[in-house]
Amino acid sequence: MAGITHSDIVKAPKVLLHDHLDGGLRPATIVELAAAVGHELPAQDPERLGAWFVAAADSGSLERYLETFAHTVAVMQTVEGLHRVAKECALDLAADGVVYAEIRYAPEQHLERGLTLDEVVDAVHAGFREGCAEAAALGSPIRIGTLLTAMRHAARSQEIAELAVRYRDTGVVGFDIAGAEAGFPPTRHLDAFEYLQRENFHFTIHAGEAFGLPSIWEAIQWCGADRLGHGVRIVDDITTAAPEPPVLGRLAAYVRDKRIPLELCPSSNVQTGAAASIAEHPIKLLHDLRFRVTVNTDNRLMSGTSMTREMTLLAESFGWGWAELQWLTINAMKSAFIPYDERLVLINEVIKPAYAKLLG
Ligand SMILES: [Zn+2]
Repeated sequence: MAGITHSDIVKAPKVLLHDHLDGGLRPATIVELAAAVGHELPAQDPERLGAWFVAAADSGSLERYLETFAHTVAVMQTVEGLHRVAKECALDLAADGVVYAEIRYAPEQHLERGLTLDEVVDAVHAGFREGCAEAAALGSPIRIGTLLTAMRHAARSQEIAELAVRYRDTGVVGFDIAGAEAGFPPTRHLDAFEYLQRENFHFTIHAGEAFGLPSIWEAIQWCGADRLGHGVRIVDDITTAAPEPPVLGRLAAYVRDKRIPLELCPSSNVQTGAAASIAEHPIKLLHDLRFRVTVNTDNRLMSGTSMTREMTLLAESFGWGWAELQWLTINAMKSAFIPYDERLVLINEVIKPAYAKLLG
């Protein structure tokens, strides 16, 4: 069934695995929090500020893209700021029909006004707890787990990995590294990944977005990543010469055989140049080849997007209907870092019954 629209998709349950807390603030909240801490913004009007974020991220300039995060991170340096941003994140995702989300952020970026790493995590968790409780009361229950990110250019990955493990029973479900890929291979943080493996903990690695196959190979074969943040450049290891069927190289075959989840973020990939357009996004090929594809938002503010919007763009570009959207959603739920039995409950009691109705 083709032709499903935004207003249909917003009601369908969705699962989000790759979303940055500092990339999803409401513009109006940034304006208010910036006034409270005396931070200067490029625009004071929430609507104009929102447009500024998307334009800066669209500009093709890495400098301007990074400048956007300087403004969001600047207003997330206090308990109040972190709490509010997390709470609103939960409410916004729930209103968008997201039933399970893993939200990531780098605690080391929120210490500028004297908070400790533990205080940062506590403030975010309290905000999510309140937001989830409010969403449930409004009739849109959502569950949220957090991923603690270490910045790949910095040297705190071991400390952040230990922080993540310390909070594993109180809301942190995984670990991640993020930041510029070129020049900062994941193997730089091997000690942290080996520690996490010894702790039987889960982690994903931003790899194969700006940078190609070596980054993906290191993330999986050296570091032991459970999932790939983006991983979109895996298509560089797939030869397509229609009408011949596509041929997978060794690494692409390994990723598919092992069902390694790809956290694809279509709009974000287009903004950073990892894909030319949604219509040309490799997600179509990766879907057709039955990789473990998931759809994600990455930075909702900078991409002016939501899970519903990403799904709608894919439905429009590829004629995808409920069957494809259910497949993507179940893929994501299967790939979540919460325990297997809890994933099954969400699949069998929330996702499948809802899509069964939509599929008619
Ligand atoms: Zn990301």
